[in-house]
Amino acid sequence: MNSSDSTRLPTAIIGAGPAGLATAISLQRQGYPFPLLLFDAGRALSPRIGESIPPAATPPLKDLLGPFATRHLARHLVCPGSMSVWNSERPGHNDFLYDLSGQGYHLDRALFEQQLSQAVDWRGIQHYQGYRLLRAESREPGYKLVFRTPDAREESIRAGFVVDASGSASVFARKTGVARNLLDEVLFACALFSAHDKDISLHHSLIEATENGWWYGARLPDNRMILTLCSDRAQVKLHRYQQPRAWLDALKQTLWLRHQLPSSISQTPAETLEILLRPAFSSILSAVAGERWLAVGDAAACYDPISSAGITKALLQGQQAAAAMVQYALSGEGSALAGYQDRVFADFNQYAGVRRQLYHGERRFWNAPFWRRRRGDSGDGLI
Ligand SMILES: Cc1cc2nc3c(=O)[nH]c(=O)nc-3n(C[C@H](O)[C@H](O)[C@H](O)COP(=O)(O)OP(=O)(O)OC[C@H]3O[C@@H](n4cnc5c(N)ncnc54)[C@H](O)[C@@H]3O)c2cc1C
Repeated sequence: MNSSDSTRLPTAIIGAGPAGLATAISLQRQGYPFPLLLFDAGRALSPRIGESIPPAATPPLKDLLGPFATRHLARHLVCPGSMSVWNSERPGHNDFLYDLSGQGYHLDRALFEQQLSQAVDWRGIQHYQGYRLLRAESREPGYKLVFRTPDAREESIRAGFVVDASGSASVFARKTGVARNLLDEVLFACALFSAHDKDISLHHSLIEATENGWWYGARLPDNRMILTLCSDRAQVKLHRYQQPRAWLDALKQTLWLRHQLPSSISQTPAETLEILLRPAFSSILSAVAGERWLAVGDAAACYDPISSAGITKALLQGQQAAAAMVQYALSGEGSALAGYQDRVFADFNQYAGVRRQLYHGERRFWNAPFWRRRRGDSGDGLI
């Protein structure tokens, strides 16, 4: 699609998570010359997990939320940094205090996406909620997309360009035959608690490495707290971490984390606790841009949440993808899309290096299966 096309087919964005919303807002702000349609299937997994953002997320967020940024960000909790017990029995600190890019936050994730969604609506972008992409076929000069509508009908549209922002499912890319390369998969066993305790350390993200995985805890807005054990499928199955009692027992075995938590948490009766399982991948598509399409956010590349970078990446890639699409629309030259792909690949390589360093950096449990698998030397064929 370029300005010399006689058609004015719309551009379809599949997925209204942080990446799709950031792409839509950025395209509209950058004067993209084609109509935009944003489709989202609706949340299959509820509640949404993933809520810590580092200071690096503040500049793109301010840009995307525009005049509402300060008011919107004030409804989330400021995160001063993290405290982690990693390859040591004493906590180390990573403070955001001196980071000049802005503040880190513990987000109310649902509210956060609602705020970005309002920015999309405010810009007059057409947003179709409850529309699940079922099929995609190449039809010159673009694509035919078939959706299941909220009232269970099938509806098709023609799009001149498609943005795959459908998260780790990469639905459009997968339906058009693009392969996803999997580096790793971890499994999160998460629980949400009330946390009225005013303990100052609770404002940091809390991390502790243990033999069978690592724990993560964070305060959330509205006096809630999330605690998750990041393990993998084999360990979750073996130790039954999806069962509240086993999960609570594992929490009680932490050296440091359990002492940072309100006592009400470790005393929670197992029968009242719900453990949510969520997979998290390290993966990348073999191509993230091609003939009249590109992928953005987790649809392009997923990062292990240990990086705390998933949402920031989604926002930044939304902006970068929009810049590449505007250039492509105006010039018709594929080099803009190729440049975007090069950047996504380079960022993933950098992330893979950081991930490697982190998982190799914990040496106390060197021979434990979870840590061996993260280093890729399991010898059991599992990842
Ligand atoms: C357990 C866990 C913890 C995490 N913790 C953090 C954290 O603390 N900090 C951080 O920055 N990141 C974290 N992440 C990662 C972060 O959540 C993701 O990187 C981020 O959500 C990616 O945004 P996205 O818009 O690319 O994809 P998503 O947020 O997954 O959004 C994709 C959208 O596409 C829609 N969709 C899917 N299929 C279809 C279809 N067929 N048709 C139409 N729409 C469709 C979905 O409904 C969804 O709205 C975590 C991830 C996990 C799994």
